Amino acid sequence: MNTQSLHIQMVDLKGQYNKIKAEIDTEVLEVVSSTAYINGPKVKSFQANLERYLGVKHVIPCANGTDALQVALMALGLKQGDEVIVPSFTYVATAEVIGLLGLKPIMVDVDVATFNITASIIEQAITPNTKAIVPVHLFGQSADMEAIMTVANKHNLFVIEDNAQAIGADYTFKDGTKKKTGGIGHIGCTSFYPSKNLGCYGDGGAIMTNDDTLAAQIRMVANHGQSRRYYHDVIGVNSRLDAIQAAILDVKLKYLDTYNGARQRAAAYYDTQLSNIEGIKIPTRQHNSTHVFHQYTLLVKEGKRDALQAYLKEQSIPSMIYYPVPLYDQLAFKEHIEDGFKLPNTEILCDEVLSLPMHSELDEGQLEWICNQVQAFFKL
Ligand SMILES: *Cc1c(COP(=O)(O)O)cnc(C)c1O
Repeated sequence: MNTQSLHIQMVDLKGQYNKIKAEIDTEVLEVVSSTAYINGPKVKSFQANLERYLGVKHVIPCANGTDALQVALMALGLKQGDEVIVPSFTYVATAEVIGLLGLKPIMVDVDVATFNITASIIEQAITPNTKAIVPVHLFGQSADMEAIMTVANKHNLFVIEDNAQAIGADYTFKDGTKKKTGGIGHIGCTSFYPSKNLGCYGDGGAIMTNDDTLAAQIRMVANHGQSRRYYHDVIGVNSRLDAIQAAILDVKLKYLDTYNGARQRAAAYYDTQLSNIEGIKIPTRQHNSTHVFHQYTLLVKEGKRDALQAYLKEQSIPSMIYYPVPLYDQLAFKEHIEDGFKLPNTEILCDEVLSLPMHSELDEGQLEWICNQVQAFFKL
């Protein structure tokens, strides 16, 4: 087997585009010739379709996932120094916007099996200054939202879900009802960055809520703080989803379940081939959430993670470390963190995680080759 000819990538945007090229090209050209570049019918259509898909009352499209988080926090009317609980093992954006707005990020540990924060971890971090929690559904699996909402309601806290990596995942409550992630907390945020499970061809994001008052506030903040044109009630931002991106997303939303299904099949293949290798741990599946595998992330034990990554690279197999540095060790958060602050599970994860190629276009030949190489490494 010629490894180069397999051309294995972390994500395969080109392969995915080629399958829907005709539809996408038509839609993009339609926007261009319509000249409705800002808001307009494509944005409205995508917004309505995403509301239906997620089962939420309001979707407010915006410019990117980081803006979604920022606008969501701005809409809550918090004051300087208010505390917002956030996992220390996530993409920087989740905590960055908290610091940006003059709020205090309170970083908490995550569960080592699910990579997500839990209700009990959150509860230990609550103080009289705590105002909000931002759970992240990391790598495509929901945090335990029922328990988190219970704690939040008990302490009167807002919950903003960072759903950038889990769009399409279903969370099941104890009574059997199911909800899509992003539609469970007071506000949900997502990103349409190209490599996300639902990605556009540039930047994009959305905010969702079932609360009419919050929706009005979010819309206002995202639109220069105006509720009526040229009447500005609060300091806001300009954050819009581009009409061309909305047209692309409206096409791709129809295929989201198919894409997530392909990811789940790839993950199942990895599972069967890698589960009995001593020295690695395959991703844990929660009983109350589906997993849409934004990433397929292994734990590599005994300090072998970097050697495995180097070995795979020699075989032209890419892999990524999401995330190598705990957020509390990032210089940007220095003023918010005490010297020597460490969280044990975050430390373990930053040392052991390795994400294998994961996207909707992986074929069995590629998966077989990747698994063979991982197996070969551990037999060395
Ligand atoms: C991608 C991502 C974001 C930010 O989205 P952008 O669209 O890149 O701004 C936020 N949080 C998480 C967990 C993400 O994965």
